[in-house]
Amino acid sequence: MAVYRSRPLPFITLPREVLLNGNLTPTSRLLYALLLSSLDVDMEFSQIATLAGLRHPDELSPYLEELAQIGAVEVGDHEGRGSVLTVHEMPVVPQQRTHTCVPCEDCGDCSCEYIKGVCRPCSEIRRTNDQAKRDIDRWKRQLEAGATYAIGQHAARLHRWDCPTLNTPEKGMARLEEQKPYAKNGGYYWSRLPDLYTADELRQKGSRKKHCAVCGPDPL
Ligand SMILES: [Zn+2]
Ligand SMILES: [Zn+2]
Ligand SMILES: [Zn+2]
Repeated sequence: MAVYRSRPLPFITLPREVLLNGNLTPTSRLLYALLLSSLDVDMEFSQIATLAGLRHPDELSPYLEELAQIGAVEVGDHEGRGSVLTVHEMPVVPQQRTHTCVPCEDCGDCSCEYIKGVCRPCSEIRRTNDQAKRDIDRWKRQLEAGATYAIGQHAARLHRWDCPTLNTPEKGMARLEEQKPYAKNGGYYWSRLPDLYTADELRQKGSRKKHCAVCGPDPL
């Protein structure tokens, strides 16, 4: 079962050692708080610069440098992402200041933003593939148990299980393959296969559905 977060806390926690660090300029201390706040909401660098009292994002550099010196932030190259600013919610000690990129096991792009080892789009792909596998197993089990009638997603008509108008494991998997390039934008999803029934089950249900004219299922 997946676990989702709901009602994220409306505040952030600042480590005292950064806030009370007298070697930092006031702008750096404010910038650190702004960066921490920006982690869960989409905020442009230009917005952060404005909120820090600066006119242009380029002016952030010396302050980011100050924060990097105390291990509060880090700039490094990440696979497929180029230069990335990592904000530590707890500053790291010098020995830990070599945050190297963890490439995704599946696609090789940076996975640091998400669960270590697999990037967010690939996690979605894995989840959808699991869902597809479970659905295909269910469909095959029903077919093997003699369920040769099908009711499709729209439930309008009764079909033979192999009606060309219905989704099949092969069609579904081919569609997933085509959708792979769009996984990053959430375009990777599984369409449920039709539910299969035996003639007995349909008689018990008292099914009065119209029979599909394309496949012409046997009369019940
Ligand atoms: Zn990375
Ligand atoms: Zn990946
Ligand atoms: Zn049909």
